[in-house]
Amino acid sequence: MPGLLHRFSVRRGVLVLLLSLLVVGTAVLVQAEVEGGEPTFGSQTGADAGTGVSHVVTLSERVIPFAKRRPLHVPTPVSTVTSSVMSMSTPIRMLLPSPTSVPLPTPDGTTRRIVVPILMYHHVAVAGPDADAIRRDLSVSPAAFEAQLRYLIARGYQPTTLTALMMHLQVGEPLPSNPVILTFDDGFKDQFTNAYPLLKRHGFVGSFFVITGFADEGREEHMSWTEIAFLHANGMEIGSHSYTHPSLRGKSFDYIVWQVLGSKEAIEARTHEPVRFFSYPSGQYDQRVVDVLRSAGYWGAVTLEAGSLQSSQRPFEFRRIRVRGTYDLKDFDHWFNHWLANP
Ligand SMILES: [Zn+2]
Repeated sequence: MPGLLHRFSVRRGVLVLLLSLLVVGTAVLVQAEVEGGEPTFGSQTGADAGTGVSHVVTLSERVIPFAKRRPLHVPTPVSTVTSSVMSMSTPIRMLLPSPTSVPLPTPDGTTRRIVVPILMYHHVAVAGPDADAIRRDLSVSPAAFEAQLRYLIARGYQPTTLTALMMHLQVGEPLPSNPVILTFDDGFKDQFTNAYPLLKRHGFVGSFFVITGFADEGREEHMSWTEIAFLHANGMEIGSHSYTHPSLRGKSFDYIVWQVLGSKEAIEARTHEPVRFFSYPSGQYDQRVVDVLRSAGYWGAVTLEAGSLQSSQRPFEFRRIRVRGTYDLKDFDHWFNHWLANP
């Protein structure tokens, strides 16, 4: 009996060893492709580079108390594109939506247009003394941010999400009266440390657009995957701001797929919820980007186009109101109302 047991555990040991080798081998292969630089569509690069799935998911699951855990769908990036599709010669090739995509409910055919202010933030932090003009412009201090939240509450604005806006535009689901949407680009760490607690304190929801490659690298100035998963678990909407934040205008189909599908699946591996919205890096896009986003299962995207008029016919061109770090509350009031009056 001890002999049997011994043989069994030896055999199991060998099996575990083989499995480990396989996993490590795959990881090395993927890493090699990532470092190889040139993104190619067939090569899993973008999709897998963003994930590192098993380790981080386990970590976040242990650390984050998921109130509403959803079943885990491990993304299968490469198989979402069929080889026959790849060989088509038409200029716009189609992707099959990722397994986690939730199809938009069939639009009811009604054209809807509604004024919904979508505010755009970057840093929520005090800009340091050596911050340049750009950094100061991008940095809304926590005090100013909280004053803006109080301003919105005092005027009866009710926070909502891009998902709710889209459900309204496409199938007429009701929105709260005086809806407002707060978006945060670039996934800066201060959005987690400064903006999120204030949102929570005042009962706001926010939509955070993260750059997944920066989270992968563990950049100090950006949110970690654990923090992103925490925001999601606490009711925040998480969208993609691409894999590495390049301009996508004029780029090849393969390159765009690498940036938008890879980042989508990287987020979904952590949040276990479909990513529905995209924020164009530097606000730059063209029709091909929109086509790829749609094919990849996105519902819509936010731009840098100033305004507040949102339309069911332009879900990939939602307008936003930029909140500048240089604004005092009077400026905020002025520009907020300016873009409501000129939507
Ligand atoms: Zn950005």
